[in-house]
Amino acid sequence: MSKFDFDKVTNHFITSGFLYQGSEIYGGLSNTWDYGPLGSEVKRNIEKMWWKKFIQESPTNVGIDAAILMNPKVWEATGHVSTFNDPLLDCKDCKMRFRADQLIEKQFPDADIAGLNDEQLMDFIRNNDVKCPNCGGTNFTDIRKFNMMFKTHIGVTEDSKSVVYLRPETAQGVFVNFKNILRTTRRKLPIGICNVGKAFRNEITPGQMTFRMREFTQMEMEFFCKPGEDLKWFDFWKKRCLDFVADLGIKKEDLRFRDHEPAELAFYSKATTDIEYRFPFGWGEVWGIADRTDYDLKRHATYSGEPLDYFDPETNEKYVPFCIEPSVGLDRLILMTLCNAYDEEAIGENDSRIVMHLVPSLAPYKVAVLPLSKKLEEKAQEVQKILSTYMTTVYDDTGSIGKRYRRQDAIGTPYCVTVDFNTLEDSSVTIRDRDTMQQIRLQITDLEKYLSVKVFY
Ligand code: ATP
Repeated sequence: MSKFDFDKVTNHFITSGFLYQGSEIYGGLSNTWDYGPLGSEVKRNIEKMWWKKFIQESPTNVGIDAAILMNPKVWEATGHVSTFNDPLLDCKDCKMRFRADQLIEKQFPDADIAGLNDEQLMDFIRNNDVKCPNCGGTNFTDIRKFNMMFKTHIGVTEDSKSVVYLRPETAQGVFVNFKNILRTTRRKLPIGICNVGKAFRNEITPGQMTFRMREFTQMEMEFFCKPGEDLKWFDFWKKRCLDFVADLGIKKEDLRFRDHEPAELAFYSKATTDIEYRFPFGWGEVWGIADRTDYDLKRHATYSGEPLDYFDPETNEKYVPFCIEPSVGLDRLILMTLCNAYDEEAIGENDSRIVMHLVPSLAPYKVAVLPLSKKLEEKAQEVQKILSTYMTTVYDDTGSIGKRYRRQDAIGTPYCVTVDFNTLEDSSVTIRDRDTMQQIRLQITDLEKYLSVKVFY
């Protein structure tokens, strides 16, 4: 586990420009965060890496980019309109609102409450004297359900006919396009269809920074296969998801699979597992991987009236494909990656540095260009111009060279290129490695070749 306190590391992310509180000058808006110049680079890098692994390097798969607003019947078919519900209860004394299952899990981490209904959760709370984390009281309301979808209206009138929802997940854009995609790509099963974009949930329990937000980015894949082959593919994608997390540089000991118990499984799911990461605040779900059987396509076929079955040319059979869904929140991947990368290191007797050991391909800037003196500005800018056509760069000419190295260490820049007076004579520069702090001398013309192999995934 990270040896650092969550507040300390997140404070570093905020002060250095990875993340800002949303609408901060107006006092913020709870559970909303904006990515700053550094965080937005990391976000793009991780999304690109995911697209590469799950589409470019997976020949069975394709990607789409589906709309956020969908026909409201979609959410009737999925059950979100009626059952997208959390078991909520309020403390009558201090008026704070909590999710019943989370309240219990916090105070009784070993309790097995998976599969309990609302009444049983309430009994547990009363019988075990579960306390309000805010005021210590035990005076709770009964559990109430709450719809987490954000509602808005299409057009000028705000009547019930014009209601639309902001999608609470990206997956449905795939299911409703299933026929279009098979027809236009002329693909056969198995096929994985990926969709990335914003999802919205009116979460009521405040999250640990970007772990739980009201507006977040999901990256989902729906992998359709022949019934009976589903568990094989479930194992296959489970492994690939873990490989992806390893590629982000995450330490093995901070990762685990949490298989859902049979009682905990949704009724339509044959198997579900979560990849969990040990955040500084404890274990948290990062990636959910589920065998959803033929549930979603069948529901949409019923609600839309469009048959969504598949004709298998190899066996001449018609069936509704089964679906494996690895669903991941990009923001949680980023938070995990940043927490994992943060370190503080002693250097010599009385010096230390903050360093973000980000995998180079994920770093916001791949290289910093540092002129030893302001007089070297022209040459240094020339070097930056050359490098910036290949990779993200940053320029820094203020403070001592030691201070500038520290600044780059603290934001994870893997390489610093220093331009000095010798550069003017022989066109060579110094390259310093963030992790080893070793320096070597190279010709400017060799820089691109030297750095490219190190900084691209
Ligand atoms: P949780 O139990 O933490 O609420 P969930 O089981 O509802 O999560 P899913 O519906 O399975 O989550 O969504 C898939 C993934 O989307 C999650 O593994 C997580 O990475 C991400 N995700 C879900 N809700 C949020 C949120 N409010 N903020 C950020 N990411 C989220």
